[in-house]
Amino acid sequence: MAPSHILRCCQRVLAWVPVVFIALVVCWSYYAYVVELCILTIMNTGEKIVYLVIFHLSFVMFVWSYWKTIFSKPANPSKDFCLPKADKEQFEREERPELQQEILRRVAKDLPLSTRTGTGAIRYCDRCQVIKPDRCHHCSACDMCVLKMDHHCPWVNNCVGFSNYKFFILFLAYSLIYCLFIAATVLQYFIKFWTNELPDSHAKFHVLFLFFVAAMFFISVLSLFSYHCWLVAKNRSTIEAFRAPVFRGGPDKNGFSLGFSKNVKEVFGDEKKYWLLPLFTSLGDGVNYTTRLVHVDVEQPASDTQSASARCNITENQSSHSSRPLSESQNRLLGNEHHYSEDGLNGNNHNIDANHSVAVSLESDS
Ligand SMILES: [Zn+2]
Ligand SMILES: [Zn+2]
Repeated sequence: MAPSHILRCCQRVLAWVPVVFIALVVCWSYYAYVVELCILTIMNTGEKIVYLVIFHLSFVMFVWSYWKTIFSKPANPSKDFCLPKADKEQFEREERPELQQEILRRVAKDLPLSTRTGTGAIRYCDRCQVIKPDRCHHCSACDMCVLKMDHHCPWVNNCVGFSNYKFFILFLAYSLIYCLFIAATVLQYFIKFWTNELPDSHAKFHVLFLFFVAAMFFISVLSLFSYHCWLVAKNRSTIEAFRAPVFRGGPDKNGFSLGFSKNVKEVFGDEKKYWLLPLFTSLGDGVNYTTRLVHVDVEQPASDTQSASARCNITENQSSHSSRPLSESQNRLLGNEHHYSEDGLNGNNHNIDANHSVAVSLESDS
């Protein structure tokens, strides 16, 4: 076996260490809460039953969402984003970057792309040899391009992206509920043990650690959960929060934002009954995104209208792109809000209403 192969195997095994650590802590917390606290310490049957029912509910939801976050395969760009054989051979032969870009531009004209690199070039992954769809990034840990990549999470040993972002948010939410419930119910027994109101037994140490571990995890997950709630509300990935996506008109950190309610629906889906379940209900296909290319702020009508027309001119110049009907997911995303223009590629199509006006441009994927 080649040394590099052994090294890769070791890396792959070591990557599971944080997941195994969390799994062991969860197994111990289950034993400590159910056996040591509920069965051996709590004498009141009613209290015992209520605690056990709520504990098991939060435990099942927590484990279910954690499992789904770990084992959802990251979504990758489809074959449409690979260069056709002839173009690929030409691309590999060509050494001049500007001519390589020419080939990429020719292939990309039929793809739904609205973002570019910082220098305005088509985003291409040399490692995977694919044109990167909007919001897609290459993960060096997974060694693949991941759709709507958020970040690579060592605690789940998986990439958090289009296929599992909802599961990840639910995993954070249910771990908070799990920890908060344990800490809140254990507190009174924790105090009783240390004021000698309960007989000294080994349950004392389990209860002590249960409280500290639950409180510690609760505090550390709370900030991460709050941050991701903010990202969902803004329709940004962690990567985009650090580096704004670059559109043809320049970088725009709010380029994918469709307003609070539509941003939430993009991750959780439009049927509220499924929002709290770790089932895949995110809208879209991970490749086509509705982009907000023009933002008109009524507070500053003159300057913004100017910049709006400037942005529209940019889109008008992209003659290779034609407007197309909205896909089902985009239709659902746009709903019936009138200040989104379906065919924003025509520069005259930005609608202005009294509250706030946004025109949306959709790129061709036909
Ligand atoms: Zn890649
Ligand atoms: Zn990854």
